[in-house]
Amino acid sequence: MQKGKELYRGKAKTVFLTDNPSLLVLEFRNDTSAFDGEKIEQLDRKGEVNNKFNHFIMQQLEAAGVKTQVQSLMSDTESVVKKLDMIPVECVIRNFAAGSLCRRLGVEEGIALSPPTFEFFLKNDALHDPMVNESHITGFNWATEAQIAQMKAISFEVNNVLSPLFAKGGMLLVDFKLEFGIDANNDLILGDEFTPDGCRLWDSETRKKLDKDRFRQGLGSVVESYIEVAQRIGLSL
Ligand code: ADP
Ligand code: UDP
Repeated sequence: MQKGKELYRGKAKTVFLTDNPSLLVLEFRNDTSAFDGEKIEQLDRKGEVNNKFNHFIMQQLEAAGVKTQVQSLMSDTESVVKKLDMIPVECVIRNFAAGSLCRRLGVEEGIALSPPTFEFFLKNDALHDPMVNESHITGFNWATEAQIAQMKAISFEVNNVLSPLFAKGGMLLVDFKLEFGIDANNDLILGDEFTPDGCRLWDSETRKKLDKDRFRQGLGSVVESYIEVAQRIGLSL
């Protein structure tokens, strides 16, 4: 497999074509962004840490029967993935209130949500990723009703697999964001990434933040915390 030309440069990753039309290379850069790209910094080793973290999590999900984009690690900062036609929505599951939910509903951070909540957001930085409902998604033909049902079911399945994995490492999986796409066989597949950039993880005892909120809130030790999370779930980086 040969890496080809750049297809898309996002805020944190660059996507490359390959000589195999069904495969892409995802390069995880050190760029770290928050507030829809308003705050951007380079953090040493973050690309490598997130690349390996994402690969590890996607493998755990595959082993649990979740269909993912994962193919292979290509280098410290690059992974080979299945090329997907991405659905332009973000799927968010929350086990505890934090972030935009607290701002939107005026609720206190840390309230347990039982059962967990599920939300869709449109991927659009210029509009600050507005929340959308199922009728927007079908009405604008971003996805079908069947695909919506699958995205929801797989998101809850991911929560069922990963919450216990992080719990074993003494952490609460507070919330997370997933993106899905359609492969060449018209199957709905988990794409993009699962890293501490796109989820919230707190120490179960102290509720210390170990995720990208350390960057958003200027708490320091961002990559060091990601490495600690990895170590706690059995991945040494
Ligand atoms: P953003 O676009 O939000 O700035 P990134 O920097 O993470 O985000 O860019 C990665 C881009 O690659 C995203 O737009 C994401 O939807 C897309 N992508 C992720 N996985 C795949 C895949 N398997 N196939 C095609 N596109 C993908
Ligand atoms: N999230 C993400 N990308 C986004 C928006 C949210 O990865 O564009 C993740 C975020 O890291 C958190 C979860 O989705 O783990 C819920 O985010 P929230 O809606 O609370 O928004 P935030 O306040 O984090 O912007």
